[in-house]
Amino acid sequence: MFKFLSDEPLHNPLAREQVSDTVIKCTTCYMCACRCGIRVHLREGDNGPEVRYIDGNPEHPLNKGVICAKGASGIMKQVSPARLTQPLLRKAGSERGAGEFEPISWARTYEILTERLAKIRATDPKKFALFTGRDQMQALTGLFARQFGTPNYAAHGGFCSVNMAAGMIYTVGGSFWEFGGPDLDRARLFVMIGTAEDHHSNPMKIAIAKFKRDGGRFISINPVRTGYSAIADEWIPIKPGTDGALFMALMHELIHTDRIDHAFLQRFTNAPQLVVLDEGEREGLFAFDPNPEKGPPGDGRHPHNKLVWDKASSQVLNAYPEGIADGCDPALEGHYTLADGSKVAPSFQLLRERVASCTPEWAATITGIAAERIRQLAGEMGHAAFEQAYTLPIPWTDAWGRHHPHTQARPVAFHAMRGLAAHSNGFQTVRALAILMSLLGTIDAPGGFRHKAPYPRHIVPNYRAFNDPAQIQPNTPLNAAPLGFPAHPDELAIHPDGSPIRIDHAYSWEHPLSAHGMMHNVITNATRGDPYRIDTLMMFMANMAWNSTMNTSNVREMLNRKHGDGEYMIPFIVVCDAFQSETVAFADLVLPDTTYLERHDVMGMLDRPISEFDGPVDSVRIPVVKPLGECKPFQEVLIELAGRLKFPAFTTPEGGRKFSSYTDFIVNFQPAPGVGFLMGWRGKDGQSHLKGEPNPKQWEAYEKHNCVFQYHMPQTMHYMRNWNREYLDFAKDKSWRQRNDPIQLALYSDTLQFFRLAAQGKTRGRQPPDELRERVATYFDPLPFWYAPLEEAATDLKAYPLNAITQRPMAMYHSWDSQNAWLRQIHSHNYLHVNVATAKAAGIADGGWCWVESQWGKVRCMVRYSEAVEPGTVWTWNAIGKADGAWQLAPGADEARKGFLLNHLISEELPFQGAKGSTTISNSDPITGQAGWYDVRVRIRPAAPEEPRESFPQFASMPAAPGVLGKAAQVLTYFAGRKKS
Ligand code: SF4
Repeated sequence: MFKFLSDEPLHNPLAREQVSDTVIKCTTCYMCACRCGIRVHLREGDNGPEVRYIDGNPEHPLNKGVICAKGASGIMKQVSPARLTQPLLRKAGSERGAGEFEPISWARTYEILTERLAKIRATDPKKFALFTGRDQMQALTGLFARQFGTPNYAAHGGFCSVNMAAGMIYTVGGSFWEFGGPDLDRARLFVMIGTAEDHHSNPMKIAIAKFKRDGGRFISINPVRTGYSAIADEWIPIKPGTDGALFMALMHELIHTDRIDHAFLQRFTNAPQLVVLDEGEREGLFAFDPNPEKGPPGDGRHPHNKLVWDKASSQVLNAYPEGIADGCDPALEGHYTLADGSKVAPSFQLLRERVASCTPEWAATITGIAAERIRQLAGEMGHAAFEQAYTLPIPWTDAWGRHHPHTQARPVAFHAMRGLAAHSNGFQTVRALAILMSLLGTIDAPGGFRHKAPYPRHIVPNYRAFNDPAQIQPNTPLNAAPLGFPAHPDELAIHPDGSPIRIDHAYSWEHPLSAHGMMHNVITNATRGDPYRIDTLMMFMANMAWNSTMNTSNVREMLNRKHGDGEYMIPFIVVCDAFQSETVAFADLVLPDTTYLERHDVMGMLDRPISEFDGPVDSVRIPVVKPLGECKPFQEVLIELAGRLKFPAFTTPEGGRKFSSYTDFIVNFQPAPGVGFLMGWRGKDGQSHLKGEPNPKQWEAYEKHNCVFQYHMPQTMHYMRNWNREYLDFAKDKSWRQRNDPIQLALYSDTLQFFRLAAQGKTRGRQPPDELRERVATYFDPLPFWYAPLEEAATDLKAYPLNAITQRPMAMYHSWDSQNAWLRQIHSHNYLHVNVATAKAAGIADGGWCWVESQWGKVRCMVRYSEAVEPGTVWTWNAIGKADGAWQLAPGADEARKGFLLNHLISEELPFQGAKGSTTISNSDPITGQAGWYDVRVRIRPAAPEEPRESFPQFASMPAAPGVLGKAAQVLTYFAGRKKS
């Protein structure tokens, strides 16, 4: 008899010892970036309390008790064999990458770091670079870099989705993901585009489940029929990098059929505002009232000093307040002449002209979506926005004092992510989407896109990035944060000759609006000494020797590259991680981090809170078990170093330490009076919220309240927050905004035009170097447009006919969980998923081995036939393939032998014609510096029968680091019921 038909149970949990789970601690999950509330159930272990199981916290506003496979598997992360347990120093004489270390004490570790960093800070602070992965503490890491005095700081956003953030923030003042999202409770139609199934995981799935139960229609547009696409009512395959063309055609169709929200455009966007058409230094900028009291628009003091053409009176009026007075009917179309003879047109007219040629037929040839389907899609969007529209009985008053007795719903919601962003045309693509949404009137409207506090921000946000090379001085903090949002060429981080200040070239003329930095170019530039050499590179949670980099094999070689005198090109590398990742092997000094269950953390308003549509929410983590071995939270390390290095913000006037620990810092640090990292239970007695004096018992208050603070705003502040007077005043009062003026949607971006005019030599002031003029003038178009990803121009498309993309699976986030015994059982290796017709045409069998080649490199992997991918695209899961021995996987593990990493095929640079001849430039969006890692083109062919049945490339197996936890054999015995030894 087969075993499964036996009377004898395979596993009888009831027969085992029952274990008490009465000890429950609440904290916040960090198995992905969604930050659900969890309850950790503990049992008594050999060395004190240990995790028995984890479930979702039903009282948490984000996930309401739901937990996903990753979240429940946190227990296996905690006992992962790959855990580092002590600080390590590379053995003298050993090579980077060989992974030969000696354990050292924390005292010695601090001595080494303090001595080295103090010397750099006292001489040339920019020689210290700090780059972090998908951490959630950028308010602290950014402050550390600023206080150190180095501009060379960023997190992983330039590699991830800065196009999504910047493209939307520069257009509507907020963006998808942490700062806004689709209002599925009130939508009728939901269009998801370019979104993998891991993003905004639990909250999105809970919302979609309810949306579908309520009868909503869900369309997913993606080259791959992802998990989301599988549960959608319709999957529309699209070619990668062409989403912008689809949006342009949808706009064409909506405008052509007059399915746009005229009243919304007239009052709440810059659509009616007049743009100067005459050549000169105001060309393409907004015309304005010359009254010297008012100043030109965009100077920050009078951002709304613009003009409209009133059709009712046939005259030019100030956009505010006359242009919105009762009886005024601002024109959206036409060409006009001002009293001084200037030719002008409403910005909407220019948009209309721009999309006139972007017909569905035009887009069909680019996207692969039939013209008729594009027309229908536009019709469906218009139908949802206008025929299915309704109002909510919520009165509100706009910024100019008009009372609106109801709130207008526009129930068509969108959600988009990295599929749009990770292309070199992503910024303009995301802008096109944001403008499409604006035409439908869906911005912060019920059923559409809704902001989450502290968004919406100004367009452009009032955060200027550091930009003055003279301010990089020994032992001196920078006068501005390293990251921000430039509004003008004057705000670029460049030297007087136009060359970059930063090691990654962010905020230079190469990538002016690189709001998240450009982590993907750090190692290449630092190795090359471009624009200068650095001394110490510190990486936190950033696996830059593997999946957090393009051109992986060469980057690994660069980390090991030396000068003729034997010194490394990057002299000192510090890696902080909880696990033995691929990058650990290249470290000179390893700092063992804690897990999310062992430390305090903050997800607050100074960084990335977990706000809901209806009000701000922040949350914390508190330790539920003690740190393993010698592990220390990186936060504590930074606070300690900041104290030792005597950073001004961390030092008392008497010269002593201002903060004794990270928890002390979180409670007492205030960037402005009453404003801190956490907004709940402030004030000496813990009775103030949002703002207030520090509360010494704030951590205890969070611990008592499920580690989360939620503030419910009155209904009158739930919608239309770009223009909602009550909300704007409230947000300013709470220091979420510096001004309380309204945020007009930027259908037309005069910010981009400032850069274009400089590139065209039409303005005085900063201008790009000659070799970059055409590039800046082309891509800084104030109106959205679609262009082919830049890599195509450098590629023989006949030789490399296929697009290759990756996505993260539901069960793993970044490279975080291949060491997780439970999650490895879901994904131990990855395949290249190829449309059946495409694979057969290439002569590759289902399950067979094949070569995937780009012009930059090649990988060998296994193929799976799939009907769930459009024929011109191949795809795979990201970061399942691992280097042999990394993450404490047994030598020869599936992850290393069968799994593969697509990044080997992607270049971090493209050829470029510079002033001195052929050179290279980052393979990134020319506006934001977003890595174009979904742009790569490939071809496939079968592997020869005699070739090894293993993935390529392979690397020498990483040895176990001293003190790494190991004990893989014991991990799967770690179940409820394990008897104490
Ligand atoms: S979605 Fe899953 S992994 Fe992500 S935070 Fe929530 S429970 Fe954790």
